[in-house]
Amino acid sequence: TETSVNPQTDFIFRSKLPDIYIPKHLPLHSYCFENLAEFGSRPCLINAPTGDIYTYYDVELTARRVASGLNKFGVGQGDVIMVLLPNSPEFVFSFLGASLRGAMTTAANPFFTAAEVAKQAKASKAKLIVTQSNFFEKVKDIDVKLIFVDSPPDGHSHFSELSQADEKDVPEVKIKPDDAVALPYSSGTTGLPKGVMLTHKGLVTSIAQQVDGENPNLYFHHEDVILCVLPLFHIYSLNSVLLCGLRAKAAIMLMPKFEINALLGLIQKYKVSIAPVVPPIVLAISKSPDIDKYDLSSVRVLKSGGAPLSKELEDSVRAKFPKARLGQGYGMTEAGPVLTMSLAFAKEPMEVKAGACGTVVRNAEMKIVDPETSQSLPRGHPGEICIRGDQIMKGYLNDPEATKNTIDEEGWLHTGDIGYIDEDDELFIVDRLKELIKYKGFQVAPAELEALLLSHPHISDAAVVPMKDEAAGEVPVAFVVRSNGHTQTTEDDIKQFVSKQVVFYKRISRVFFIDAIPKSPSGKILRKDLRAKLAADAANH
Ligand code: AMP
Repeated sequence: TETSVNPQTDFIFRSKLPDIYIPKHLPLHSYCFENLAEFGSRPCLINAPTGDIYTYYDVELTARRVASGLNKFGVGQGDVIMVLLPNSPEFVFSFLGASLRGAMTTAANPFFTAAEVAKQAKASKAKLIVTQSNFFEKVKDIDVKLIFVDSPPDGHSHFSELSQADEKDVPEVKIKPDDAVALPYSSGTTGLPKGVMLTHKGLVTSIAQQVDGENPNLYFHHEDVILCVLPLFHIYSLNSVLLCGLRAKAAIMLMPKFEINALLGLIQKYKVSIAPVVPPIVLAISKSPDIDKYDLSSVRVLKSGGAPLSKELEDSVRAKFPKARLGQGYGMTEAGPVLTMSLAFAKEPMEVKAGACGTVVRNAEMKIVDPETSQSLPRGHPGEICIRGDQIMKGYLNDPEATKNTIDEEGWLHTGDIGYIDEDDELFIVDRLKELIKYKGFQVAPAELEALLLSHPHISDAAVVPMKDEAAGEVPVAFVVRSNGHTQTTEDDIKQFVSKQVVFYKRISRVFFIDAIPKSPSGKILRKDLRAKLAADAANH
């Protein structure tokens, strides 16, 4: 009967796979390099542009040398380093070296403008930046130690000062499970980008949830070759590609940038078996006229995540990889990031439905909450997706208020995504409650663009919302109120004003001039109304 249901406990969803033991006491690097002697001479990193191969022994030793070098340059336990690099061995060495030093890494998008890089470097209080010489313009005015992986500009250091430091000089550090090790930036459900503190325990838990145990949720084995084309500055790639690959002692093939034919060629050349991608790459694969020229039969797992993948697209790419298992994972930086993963990837795979984002990972709890009443909901009812477990972030750096608004008193992280769980425990995402715009999986924070627009002398108010776009998924568009007498300011003026200051995917695609931004009595922008206006406009055209 109705009355025997307790929504506080009855509507909590768990994995269909049993919980496993997770060595949460281990620092992240020790966990990734566990049993090194058994796997030390296996290939660990393949640098696609050069063909260089680094074994597990090479990578572990270089990481210790980098830890020593970081120490020499004054990076101490609890300090932050910034990495501004495309996917490369040096990115991996820097991250692991910082972990060994007891420090944190914040990685920024190499396409960021100087202002965007500076903002993140300053907010994270980075002590040192590892980068390359063509980004010198972006970092030269930041007053920290700069290290270059290629020829350093005059007066600056080369990466060899880190990678050739004496590993015997690594200071003893006592790393606690709750110490942060990665500091990706994310705007979460609202506001500006914030530093997301992911701890040793959190990342170890998240990786274990994916690849550890008898019947792992995401089955990687040491003979796998994993495609690492997704940028390592994003936690999807850092965690579910690199770190999961290291834990599984697989070979990780690093590609610094995405280009469809290069990607297909490399899959063939290195017999890539695991291909973690995002929907725009799935789209490029499905539309490629050259796909039949390549032997892609080595791919056994094709996993999409980071943004919604339509059922149509999923079906169209399935035909190109008849032997591969296809499915989605769903992540959010703050969640560590993986919340759900398709059970098609389990060692003993299960039937899954097209369009599903997977099932909640092991050793975690998920619930679906009515945003109005905060009551948890049964199967089949859409609501806000919430997750609880050791894998989620410790909190936002120096922002207890934003942390409190995201993780509630009972430890549930509120994602701002709307979805439902079906009768087979599969999650379907249907909408996004939060402000976030995702351009090809990249984050665009409306608040950041609104602040920029408001700094324009002829703009008195502005709001930025997502608009659907075939190629990008979503693009940002602006509603703008011009200040008195400035009616001559055009859409183009405003677009250019923004473009000069931001990375390409934050550029505003359309500007709509209106008389007033719709707001609630408390002054919050009624984004839903603006989104509805766009939808109505689109329907009329
Ligand atoms: P990020 O923190 O950059 O990883 O962005 C997280 C957000 O991306 C999530 O909260 C979702 O809105 C969206 N997202 C990630 N994976 C998926 C997926 N498989 N399907 C739909 N949306 C997704």
